[in-house]
Amino acid sequence: MTKPLNECIVPMYPTLQALDVNALEPGEHKFWFAVATDAIGHPQTLPVRVFKGEKPGKRIVISAGVHGDEQNGILTAQQVARALEGQAIAGCITIVPTVNLSGIARHSRDFHSAAPDSSSANLNRLFPGDPHGDDASRYAHSLWENLFKPNADLAIDLHSQTSGSAYPLYAFADYRLPDALKMARLIHPDVILNDPGDPGILETVYNRAGIASITIEVGVGRYTDLTMVKRASEGVLNVLRAYQLIAGELLPSNQRVIEGSKIISVRAEQGGFVVCHVELLEHVEQGQKLATQYNSFGDEVQTYYAPSAGTVISHNVESVRAPGSLVVRLIE
Ligand SMILES: [Zn+2]
Repeated sequence: MTKPLNECIVPMYPTLQALDVNALEPGEHKFWFAVATDAIGHPQTLPVRVFKGEKPGKRIVISAGVHGDEQNGILTAQQVARALEGQAIAGCITIVPTVNLSGIARHSRDFHSAAPDSSSANLNRLFPGDPHGDDASRYAHSLWENLFKPNADLAIDLHSQTSGSAYPLYAFADYRLPDALKMARLIHPDVILNDPGDPGILETVYNRAGIASITIEVGVGRYTDLTMVKRASEGVLNVLRAYQLIAGELLPSNQRVIEGSKIISVRAEQGGFVVCHVELLEHVEQGQKLATQYNSFGDEVQTYYAPSAGTVISHNVESVRAPGSLVVRLIE
């Protein structure tokens, strides 16, 4: 199916500067959310889908693309939205598949500022934003105040590993929050990290605002992994069923999930070409060889060993490694 540009634009959806799902009619809605203007004053608008039920229930916000190179998260959000079309809803599901417009368009993790005195920024360290800050901080503030916070009782933020590295299906949850732990387990990930969070991360900002939230990493950075997208979408739908936003049987419980609270990152000691010898979810013993590094001539310059026993939850898939960049990550 191909649509010319005009046909994509002509069915203009309403443009909002603030969303209040409580004031909406029940049904399926598509909006443009005018998050900010760009440097020539044009609106930057991002798509928002709302599935509001006739019956009352929880309100959940599902976001993706906060990091612009994490496309499997975006594909997951879109797949969940398609799966919800025509379903009876209790409560309200808001889906924002492409949060970081400037990053996504550049296949880049960061928010790209057009201000001459600003650098690109990690949007997921800037929430809840600042209405008087630079353009990235104002963008985060607009998202938080006008879209995310007012419409969420629960929240899921979909990511993937950053470009050049892979994750399995991996959830971050603050175990002090029963709903965060419950949602993480309902996703049926391979791994859950008990993570108290850090300032500026959307998940942490939700949690500290009393809105239980999790971050889901949907596999590898940048490149499409439809198996992982399907698993993540089914996991999100399982959360929606468990909170009775949609009807249906829950997935059978997952016995194989690895839960931990300590991660160990092995990083490149110097620049060069790193080839890994381990696979995702492989158990390694202390001292096991993880990776070999070569210089530009092809000479072996470094060998990396496991500093302790653990399970491999990430490794590089692009061999070029800057000094300090990730080679292998283990969970204990
Ligand atoms: Zn991310």
